[in-house]
Amino acid sequence: MVLQSLLRWGSDQQKSELLPELASGRKLGAICFTEPNAGSDLEGIKTTFVEVGDMIEVSGSKKWITCGAIADVFIVFGRLGDKPVAILIDKDTPGIKINPAPEMLGFRAAHLANIQLNGCMVHKDNLFGHPGTAFRFMAPYALDWGRLSVTWACVGMLRACVEETAEFVLRRESFGHALIEHGSVRSLFTELAIQYDAALLLTLQATRLKDAQVAHASNDILTAKYFSSRAIAGQAATAVQLFGARGCEETGPVARFYRDAKIMEIIEGSTQISEILLAKRYAIRHNNTKKREIETMGQN
Ligand SMILES: Cc1cc2nc3c(=O)[nH]c(=O)nc-3n(C[C@H](O)[C@H](O)[C@H](O)COP(=O)(O)OP(=O)(O)OC[C@H]3O[C@@H](n4cnc5c(N)ncnc54)[C@H](O)[C@@H]3O)c2cc1C
Repeated sequence: MVLQSLLRWGSDQQKSELLPELASGRKLGAICFTEPNAGSDLEGIKTTFVEVGDMIEVSGSKKWITCGAIADVFIVFGRLGDKPVAILIDKDTPGIKINPAPEMLGFRAAHLANIQLNGCMVHKDNLFGHPGTAFRFMAPYALDWGRLSVTWACVGMLRACVEETAEFVLRRESFGHALIEHGSVRSLFTELAIQYDAALLLTLQATRLKDAQVAHASNDILTAKYFSSRAIAGQAATAVQLFGARGCEETGPVARFYRDAKIMEIIEGSTQISEILLAKRYAIRHNNTKKREIETMGQN
């Protein structure tokens, strides 16, 4: 999200200073939207930017920032007067306080941090993109990339669940038969396998459209993320169920997916927020399809 945002919105100076460092992995970036009182509601962000000569004073509080505990540079969203803006802030800027977040249900390798910005003085050259466009263009652009990575993570977890479970239901016996011979096991396993296939197809389609820079790719990315995150949230539970007690062992083959899966329904636009965004878009799309069919019938 940080690299792609920098490529799209960064100034020449920002790109030449940061892109080689980030692309090579010598530096890590993190992106900061969420605040204690603004998660889904991006426009509720309260972090303030105040101009002081050539500098911008940044004050606010950011929460649950992925890689926040190990990042070298942060893209921070806030407001300059009434303008939504973003700025690049180095981790060593005086006034920044980085506190590792309490351990989460899953996603434990993500080095989450809560970040306090106490009057950090940052040069104006670090302002990122065009002032005023941060919520309308920059955040959605970054979220597209975040959602793509989340939907692929869900596909990866679904694949792991289906492969681990396939081997187990074929090998493990109960009542004198392999588990796959029992009707209710077949029903659970079929659903798991098909949810994986469907998530993979939606995610491939969204990725191809994004690669081709098709205008409505965002819609397909959100659709894929919505479907895949719900699929893994349900199907990781199925995998645990089919493994029985082995599925509940912390070091077992599927317990980690069960913990990680729920998080996928919350990050980069929760299931409910996705429904708010998608319902209207689908209603308009299908209404237009119907209108076109009626028009075509009229012409014929
Ligand atoms: C592992 C992890 C990593 C994260 N990484 C980052 C990061 O790198 N950068 C960053 O900025 N943030 C990050 N976040 C924060 C994440 O973006 C927010 O948690 C998310 O936006 C939801 O905000 P919230 O948790 O404040 O929930 P809220 O917005 O308070 O929502 C709470 C519940 O209410 C529902 N809800 C809210 N509004 C509505 C509505 N209008 N209609 C119906 N339902 C609604 C939500 O779906 C949710 O179920 C991360 C979170 C986690 C768990």
